[in-house]
Amino acid sequence: MKYSDNSQLDKNGLDGRVFRAFAESSKRRYIYLCNLQTNVSRWSVSAIEYFGLPSEYMLDAGTIWESYIHPDDVEMYRADIASIFSGKTQYHNMEYRARNKDGQYVICTCCGFVLKGENGEPDLFAGTISNHGIVENVDSITNLYNIYQFMDAMRVLREKSEQTLILLIGLNHFDSVNSVYGYSFGNKVLRTFANGIKDIVRGNGQVYRLDGCKFAICMNVDNKMQTEIVYEKIQKMGLSQIFVEDTQIVLSVSGGAVFVNHNVAVGEFSIRSAVMHALDISKHERNGELVFFDDDSQGKSLRVLEMMDRLRKDIINGCQNFYLNYQPLVRAENGSVIGMEALIRWSNPLFGEAAPGVFIPWLENDPCFYDLGNWIMERALTDGKKIIEKNPDFLVHVNISYTQLQRTGFRDSVLEILAKTQFPPQNLYLELTERCRNLDLNYLKEEIQFFHTQNINIAIDDFGIGASSFSLIRELPLKCLKIDRSFISNIYQNKKDQYIVDAMLNCARNLDIEVCLEGVETEELRDFLQCYQADIHQGYFYSRPVNYRKFLELLD
Ligand code: C2E
Ligand code: CA
Ligand code: CA
Repeated sequence: MKYSDNSQLDKNGLDGRVFRAFAESSKRRYIYLCNLQTNVSRWSVSAIEYFGLPSEYMLDAGTIWESYIHPDDVEMYRADIASIFSGKTQYHNMEYRARNKDGQYVICTCCGFVLKGENGEPDLFAGTISNHGIVENVDSITNLYNIYQFMDAMRVLREKSEQTLILLIGLNHFDSVNSVYGYSFGNKVLRTFANGIKDIVRGNGQVYRLDGCKFAICMNVDNKMQTEIVYEKIQKMGLSQIFVEDTQIVLSVSGGAVFVNHNVAVGEFSIRSAVMHALDISKHERNGELVFFDDDSQGKSLRVLEMMDRLRKDIINGCQNFYLNYQPLVRAENGSVIGMEALIRWSNPLFGEAAPGVFIPWLENDPCFYDLGNWIMERALTDGKKIIEKNPDFLVHVNISYTQLQRTGFRDSVLEILAKTQFPPQNLYLELTERCRNLDLNYLKEEIQFFHTQNINIAIDDFGIGASSFSLIRELPLKCLKIDRSFISNIYQNKKDQYIVDAMLNCARNLDIEVCLEGVETEELRDFLQCYQADIHQGYFYSRPVNYRKFLELLD
């Protein structure tokens, strides 16, 4: 059927004066309504005119629209639309660039929601596309090329003949400049800093401003020492050479770097995630010291980049090659299994098995991690539900990363998965992994309060290491503290560990919070720990993480 042949389309349910009224209400915000059963859509006439789409009613508008989206953004768009049509997600919320009828790209944010029919099938998909105007290549504050140009540059790296260094610079605590001096002053500081970087790099590379306070530099530098020299110059410039309106501003920076080799086929998103990961470590763990993505030899770093590319592709292809292992949580006093923690595994034919401790931190910087997080939750709750049918008190712990918790749609995703799997919320524990605790305390509080009102339990993972302030315990309605295994593994030889664990346990007990001791590796350790009277134990002594089939055998 031709798209423009409206007469044959089944417009049932799409007609209506309300649609027209909304569609007319804004020239810059378009609305769409799609019947997911027939795949017929109706779009605002203003969108049809602006983009030059075939007609107000379209068959398979998702595919038609895809041909208008910028090639760099298509992959994520396609994955998102596929999960809408398959009923996997109900919310659509993304930003992409779309081409208008004059061939210019405009930035669009597209939000949508799927309504389900009586039998639970996806029925109607409705939403809005907001047009934020033509994509500029240059950031108006610093006059540097912006993130779109940066991504374009990353895309063509493999066509270059020499190795390229990508250096990412982040400004630490820039918020405080804005809050003390105001935004327009803050903008001047950014401009001065950007000019400083340009001077340092001049003639030898290109500088970009990414989102917020991040700057990227692409340079033809082929060794770490040269990179360190450039980084030190930038550090020094931030600390001592920023003067705006006669005021000296001291800027501390963090830096992450990755080398990209021309003959390695790695996508631009993987490069961005790799260098963001290195920057994260610099900022949170190394006090601003320059960090190279995978600090080993460059050869290895390239293999790691390729691996990351694979991981991304596997996630986008419906999380193929991922599976879950489960480790039992046992009642400390008698060793009976009361629940399980879901632990992700990835096994790719080209790269073998990779440990989550390695790939989760890389992926956390990648928007596609969100889909993996939802996949993990759905898998774990589907498996857990079958056990709950026989054992109604059985608990399922799922690890949550800060990128999930940060997303506005996270609450809805959790509720959706609970509804879909029919999993009882009171049997679910969300384990907030270490980085979650770096989020703003008020934000954290709101999110946790919300889950609390939904009867979902919150556990703090790896308590005692990283950001583990006691104000978390004071402010948040927590159900469980998991004491990190670094306090447990040597406890019988280490008095300090004994005092610390004792103090944490006492505090939790008085506040009515359960305690789980992690890393119970041996019988000797288990026996020693009995005197602490924790609620839950977890560790290799009881069982290593095993696949679902083995876990069921273990339960029997
Ligand atoms: P975690 O959440 O602290 O998970 C426990 C880790 O300790 C698991 O490693 C487990 O195999 C290991 N472990 C358990 N008992 C013992 C023991 O007695 N001795 C020792 N030495 N280790 C023990 P794994 O599976 O490699 O996971 C590592 C980390 O990766 C996890 O630490 C968690 O932070 C992250 N991770 C794993 N799965 C997921 C996931 O599904 N989502 C997210 N966001 N993170 C995950
Ligand atoms: Ca955990
Ligand atoms: Ca843990």
